[in-house]
Amino acid sequence: RAKKSGGQQYHFYTEDMMYAAHDRFKLENQLRQALLHKEFYLEYQPRIAMSDGSLRSVEALLRWKNPEGIPVSPAEFIPMLEDMGLITSVGEWVLLTACRQLTQWHSMDLPPFRVSVNLSAKQFQQSNLTEVVAKSLSHAKLEAQWLELEITESLMIENFHQSLEALQELREMGVSLALDDFGAGYSSLGYLKHLPIQTLKIDRGFITDLVYDPADVAIVQAVTGMAHRMGISVTAEGVETSEQLALLAELGCEEGQGFYMGRPMAAEALVEWLTQPQTFRQQLTSKAI
Ligand code: C2E
Ligand code: MG
Ligand code: MG
Ligand code: MG
Repeated sequence: RAKKSGGQQYHFYTEDMMYAAHDRFKLENQLRQALLHKEFYLEYQPRIAMSDGSLRSVEALLRWKNPEGIPVSPAEFIPMLEDMGLITSVGEWVLLTACRQLTQWHSMDLPPFRVSVNLSAKQFQQSNLTEVVAKSLSHAKLEAQWLELEITESLMIENFHQSLEALQELREMGVSLALDDFGAGYSSLGYLKHLPIQTLKIDRGFITDLVYDPADVAIVQAVTGMAHRMGISVTAEGVETSEQLALLAELGCEEGQGFYMGRPMAAEALVEWLTQPQTFRQQLTSKAI
């Protein structure tokens, strides 16, 4: 059957490709416009302490709506910004905006917490990344200890020595470093040994079925044990249920992030989230007693 319709399939395939190329071209132009017209914005997702549910950090997540007003996933448009060579400028904007926002929160008499900013591997290819970070901090009047940068192992593959040097400089500045999406993709323990990170974020892929899958429990347990012996703190990503939260706390994860505790939200909504009672907080504190 495949052989018979081969010609036809080829025809559809090329048409699909033409549409794909056209869509991509359109999206690229829209992204250029978005940068020009400052249409990007940030949402912030809370990361909490397993010990008492207090807010430890907020992760800044880049957002963009296409001209039809439909939100496009950063998983789709960030790789495009990278290919187009625009991620450095967008990334600098994210950094400065997130730092400024945190300074504003700190001025509001809330218990202190950090801001976590995702860095693209491409941002490590610029020679002045550490200067860019230092400038963002000083412009935002934020101390380095309140900034955490989230990196993925992909940055080590392209430019191991340059990346490692930049990470060490950032660390010396007092910035915190977290390894994001750990276990997804091509994790290598060889890299982990060299990275000057304080936090390891276990990828959502191990959390989704955690409650039903003993293999996931074994992995989370092993990763947590390993991290702790290296002096690294563990955050679980993608926590969606109270059962997952309870199990992760039991397995020794220090911090958690996920829809169960809070979705990514606008800066204004975070203050409300912080000051209102939350089920997860009740769950964690009553368990501690
Ligand atoms: P990430 O850094 O791992 O961010 C966490 C992602 O998981 C976010 O997706 C968040 O909305 C989602 N998430 C959080 N909790 C849950 C949950 O309980 N369930 C599920 N299903 N998802 C959850 P988002 O915002 O779509 O971002 C996707 C990725 O795009 C990020 O993954 C990050 O790699 C990248 N990204 C986002 N903002 C930036 C940025 O400013 N710069 C760079 N370089 N990358 C960014
Ligand atoms: Mg992240
Ligand atoms: Mg992640
Ligand atoms: Mg991710």
